Amino acid sequence: MNFNSHTDVVVRVAVDLVNLLTPGEDRGRRSAPPEGDERTAAVGAVLRGAGGREATWDADNSLPNGWAAGCATGLAVVLGGSRSDRLGVCTAPRCDRVYVDTSRNGTRRYCSTSCQNRVKTAAFRTRLS
Ligand SMILES: [Zn+2]
Repeated sequence: MNFNSHTDVVVRVAVDLVNLLTPGEDRGRRSAPPEGDERTAAVGAVLRGAGGREATWDADNSLPNGWAAGCATGLAVVLGGSRSDRLGVCTAPRCDRVYVDTSRNGTRRYCSTSCQNRVKTAAFRTRLS
């Protein structure tokens, strides 16, 4: 399932940035957002992964604002549309990471296969005891 090519990119970037910059629990471990230069590098890596160019990221102050506007617009389109249920928060214990569900049937419950496997392993161990 895809929203459209532009919305897909900005919503994925928004999800990645929320998970990167929000303290909490990530796949069963405490998560703290990076700070200082490490934060700049981590945000740059997210944007590079989405097709942004790091050299422009460092030199052009309008690029972060452009991404922020794009992410906000993409989230508004998704949240205001019929597919708002495609955004979610991981249901695994000790994880509060967000995700965008691009699966065909729209039944995603976890932020990652790591969380999915943790839940399955815990259920298996419970059945054995
Ligand atoms: Zn998770």
